[in-house]
Amino acid sequence: MDCIFCAIIVGAAEASFVHQDDDVVAFMDLNPVTPGHLLVIPRRHAVGLADLDEAAGAAVWRVAHRLGRVVRHDGVNLFLADGVAAGQEVFHVHLHVVPRYKGDGFKLVVKPGRPTRAELDAMAESIRDALG
Ligand code: 5GP
Ligand code: ZN
Repeated sequence: MDCIFCAIIVGAAEASFVHQDDDVVAFMDLNPVTPGHLLVIPRRHAVGLADLDEAAGAAVWRVAHRLGRVVRHDGVNLFLADGVAAGQEVFHVHLHVVPRYKGDGFKLVVKPGRPTRAELDAMAESIRDALG
């Protein structure tokens, strides 16, 4: 089996589970960014958002929402990487639930843009068009 998360789902690889239902499982991340870092995944293999069934995505979110409330410390991040450019390393879609602790040092390094309103409006229009 070449998907480690599918292997975890069928019990061929070990994991420390915190939740299992018909559609979704959640378990401890092997290399936690902070203590309590969880991964929430659909049982049915999907690589990313493009091939993820919307109902499965909603089910993943529901579990992550519940777990986020449980593991939240000073804060919590929910994070999904879709694609190599986004930092995805395991190609079975997963939602990270990362409890945050003051001074834990975890941060995204970003260089925000300063678009004009016209540029924002044009971008919004093209996204609305793509939504259909
Ligand atoms: P990504 O960068 O794809 O969003 O995150 C992949 C995550 O999966 C990483 O946080 C990594 O620590 C975790 N991970 C990779 N392999 C395993 C594994 O075999 N078991 C568990 N529990 N987590 C894994
Ligand atoms: Zn898989």
